[in-house]
This record gives sequence, C-alpha cells and structure tokens, in this order.
Amino acid sequence: MTTATPEQQQRLLALQQIDSQIRRLQQRRANLPEQQALDENAETLRAVAAEYADAQDALEDQRSIQRKREQDISHLEARRKAEEARLYSGELSTEKQVDAQRAELSSLRQRKSAYEDELLAAMEQIEELEGRVEQLTSRHQELRTKAGELTEARDAAAGDIDAELAERRTERERLAGDVEPPLLTLYEEVRTAQGGTAVAPLEEGTCQGCFLEISVIELEQIKAEAKHGLPRCPHCDRLLVLAAR
Ligand SMILES: [Zn+2]
Repeated sequence: MTTATPEQQQRLLALQQIDSQIRRLQQRRANLPEQQALDENAETLRAVAAEYADAQDALEDQRSIQRKREQDISHLEARRKAEEARLYSGELSTEKQVDAQRAELSSLRQRKSAYEDELLAAMEQIEELEGRVEQLTSRHQELRTKAGELTEARDAAAGDIDAELAERRTERERLAGDVEPPLLTLYEEVRTAQGGTAVAPLEEGTCQGCFLEISVIELEQIKAEAKHGLPRCPHCDRLLVLAAR
C-alpha cells in the first residue's frame, strides 16, 4: 500500500475531480450538438449540389434535343416547300408521278409532325427542369447561409468550452503541483489503467469508482489503511479515499 497522509489523499481526490471535469468538457467539446447540426447541414448541402448537377445535365440534354429538332423541322419545312413547288410546277406529267409526289409530301409532313411532338416534349421538360434548377439554386443558397450561422454557433459553443477548459487546466496544474511526485506518478498510472478515474471516494461502504459494495471485513481493513495510506478497491483496484467529514 502506498503511504499518503489524509491531506495528501484529499489533494489526490481534488485532482481527480478536476480531471473528471476536464474529461467531461473534452467529451462535450467533441460531441457538440452545434457540430452535429453543421455536419448534417453539410451532408444535405452535398446532396443538393449533386441533385443540382444532375438537373443541370438533364437540362443541357433537353436543350440540345430542342436545338436539334428545331433544325430538323426547319430543314424538313424547306424541303416540303421545295417538293410542294415541284408538285405545282407542272413538271410532273403523269398521274403516277403526281401521286408519288403527294405521297412524298405526306411522308414529310408526318416526319415533321413527329419532330414537332418531340420538340414540344423537350420544351416541357426544359420548363420543368428550369423550375427544378431554380428551386435547387435557392435551396443551396439557404443551406449555405445556414452553414454560416451554424459555424458561428459551433465556434461560440466551442469557445465557451475552450475558455472553461483553460480555466480547469490552470487549476489542475496548481493542484498537481501540490501533489508529491511519486503519488502523482501512481495517480497517472492508475488513471490510465482505469479509463480516467484513479481515485474514488468511499461512501457508505461503496466504492464510487465501480459502485460495488465492500464487505464489512474488507471495509475495516481499508479504513485502517486509509489513516496513513491509499488502500485499493478490492473490486476495481482504484485508489480509495474516505469521504471527508
Ligand atoms: Zn471499485
């Protein structure tokens, strides 16, 4: 058992308390709800940007179809006019030639009509997609504004915690400076081994590190040891300090 006066024991307990506070602050710092909100916002922003890119691509495709069909229609129209002029030019002498020319004109009209349907469909798609792109642009802008606000909120929350952490760390340095080096070394060793808690108060026969009850016989021995040293919890092996009266 490590020798330690009751005063040294209380200093270790105070050091443990401040270290636990520091640990809780660090955990809060790492899991800020403001940071989570910011992360979620960034994810939505990425999804919206991807959707925007898809809509923009689809819009370009439809615009290209529109241009293509407008050209096709214009060419067909020119051809139809030429073929029509030919029909009435008198250069077709037989009934058969006239019929063939009429059939050709009819076929041209059908093709033009089919292209016009496609053009109309593309224009409808363009209108819809332009609306979608506009919607996504303003949604993206909203999310970017929100990201700015959330960043400020995150920085403010983190700043508060950082200020508190700095205060606690100063206090910790002061306390640690009052602990004898061998005790401090032991404290750090046990703290590392025990997931952050080296010293546990003993309250009403229960170790406050593992919350297990200590038997009456062991309790008597621990109390005797605690008069001049640092007993260990028989369950979790942490350093036990009797709660100050
Ligand atoms: Zn214990």
